[in-house]
Formats: sequence, structure tokens, C-alpha cells
Amino acid sequence: MHTSIVENLQTVRQRIQKACQESGRTVAEVRLLLATKTVPADQIRLAIEAGETLIGENKVQELRDKQAELEHLPIERHFIGHLQTNKIKEVLKYVSCIQSLDRLAVAQQLDQQLQKLGKSLEVYIQVNTSYETSKYGLNPAEVLNFIKAIRPLDTLRIKGLMTIGLLDVEKEKMRPSLALLRQTRDQLLAEGLDGISSLELSMGMSQDLELAIAEGSNLVRIGTAVFGNRFLGKEIWKE
Ligand SMILES: *Cc1c(COP(=O)(O)O)cnc(C)c1O
Repeated sequence: MHTSIVENLQTVRQRIQKACQESGRTVAEVRLLLATKTVPADQIRLAIEAGETLIGENKVQELRDKQAELEHLPIERHFIGHLQTNKIKEVLKYVSCIQSLDRLAVAQQLDQQLQKLGKSLEVYIQVNTSYETSKYGLNPAEVLNFIKAIRPLDTLRIKGLMTIGLLDVEKEKMRPSLALLRQTRDQLLAEGLDGISSLELSMGMSQDLELAIAEGSNLVRIGTAVFGNRFLGKEIWKE
């Protein structure tokens, strides 16, 4: 598995390039985030040495465990998992962005903590565009009011929307949940929200990155295609 990480990374970069070409976009428009849950720090290092600069973790525990080995490296870390309010203080030690914001209570407590620290934080709002009950995230129809509610919290810089698309063996079944994030974004921008002139889209994983890029993704989050299978069986998104 170790030796193939750099090769896998090349393949993923090529997939991104090709998808950008095919949809008339430039690679500069799409960032690659490595989803490093369950991946040991020494393997993450290989990807960083190969030029990657952005990783995402799902659990505060894993951020803590890998901190000593990763803190001096020139990388940016994002939180992409379900954030419990009792972990808010700690997660802020490690990450510059939370991509999975979907609750007002979390937003408020983040803001309180950030005020104390005199810091601000980038956030993406997680939207459940597949309507699967197994996933976290706001319903698309709730996002406008959520943004209005968190706008006064000025330590939070609203960077965009994030979704975990519907995964299926049939490509075309995966597309609607990705297209829906783009449509949700376009509708929000059409509302003319004060102070928000753009919203990026974080979507696309190992299975659906091409579709996500075709639907306008600005940030793909890739785990398996670079680091190999985490486990066999079905992904558990709520835990
Ligand atoms: C694990 C994870 C990914 C990456 O999924 P792969 O299918 O392994 O590429 C992306 N986003 C989130 C939120 C994840 O938890």
C-alpha cells in the first residue's frame, strides 16, 4: 500500500485534469483535499512529500493522534466529520476550516470560542443533497435560513457548501445529488445575501470526482483512491 500512494496520487491528479478538460474548466479551479481518516501519519507524509498541501480528518481523536507528526509540515487541515459540541475547543487547535457545519448550536459555540481566541475560521455548510437519513447535513431548503442565522457570527467566514453525494454503481444515479448542491448554491447567490458574493462547492470523492467536477466542484475530497480501502463493506457516515 505504501509504495503505491505516490502512484495513486498521480492517477487522481490525472483524473482531475481530464475531468476539468472535459468540462471546460481549469485545474486551478479544483482543489484536492486528501481524506486521511484511518491513515497513519507516515503514509500521509508520503502524499505531502509528493506535493499535497491539504488534508481532511473526520475525528478530533485522529487529529490529536497525528498532531505531533504533522504539525510542522506545510499543510492545511480541515475538519470534514460530524462535530460534537464537546470537541469544539479542541478541534480549533488543529484546523483552519470546518466543512461540516450543519447546526446552529455548533456555529454559536465555535463563534464564542473563536472570539476568546481572537481568531476566525472558514466554514462550509454541509447539505444533505441525497436525502439519505444515514447522512448528516441540512436539507437544501433549510440552508438559506441557516446562513441568515449564522451571518451575525462574524468569526465564521462562510466559504461554501459541502455534500457527500449519493454513491451508486450507476454513474447517472450519482449526478442528481451533486447537481443539487450547485443549484442550491446558485439559488442562494441569487438571493443576494449581504457580504456573500461567492460560495464554493466541496463535493466529489473517489467514486464520483469526475461527475462532481462536471457539476462545478471546487474541492474534491479523496481518500480510497489514494490510500486504498479503509475497510470492506458499506460506509457508515453517522457514528
Ligand atoms: C472519507 C471521506 C471522503 C473520501 O471518501 P473516499 O470514497 O475514500 O474517497 C470524503 N468526504 C468525507 C466527508 C469523508 O468522510
